[in-house]
Amino acid sequence: MTLGSEKLFAAFNQQVGNEMGASMQYISIASYFDQEGLGGLARFFYRQSEEEREHAMKFVNFIVDAGGPLRIPQIAAPRAEFGSASDAVQAALDWETEVTRQIYDLVDIAKEEKNYIAHRFLDWFVDEQFEEVTTMEELLQVVERAGDGNLLAVEEYLSREGMLPERPPEGPE
Ligand code: MG
Repeated sequence: MTLGSEKLFAAFNQQVGNEMGASMQYISIASYFDQEGLGGLARFFYRQSEEEREHAMKFVNFIVDAGGPLRIPQIAAPRAEFGSASDAVQAALDWETEVTRQIYDLVDIAKEEKNYIAHRFLDWFVDEQFEEVTTMEELLQVVERAGDGNLLAVEEYLSREGMLPERPPEGPE
């Protein structure tokens, strides 16, 4: 038995690609900060990248469990160049705003088709997008207030607010 229409599975497969696209975009943003010598901001975005892959996998698991065909679409190359820290964070915020719209479109399909299982599955993503957008808005505000010359203060802020992942433990020499 399949628990979704062809249209729903096509849209969910597209979202696997969108989430993987977000994951790659965040690697690109993280590497920008890494090369700027901002290890904290780099870690923040590398972790975001891992979270986006987890989002993609939630859609993969839903498709597989619901008996749909998994057809991962082609994924566009992420944006590679950023003019400043605020430019990079703005790109992340724009991305999350776009993903929020994509999730709402999926909710519309689930509602149209009275697919309550898919609808409940998507609820988690609606909450998650609220968190992602507000986090990126907060980060953008802090980066803009600090200015490009004072980004270490941004990293201190992130650390103080518990928004930075732990530094990975040093391996043996
Ligand atoms: Mg996501």
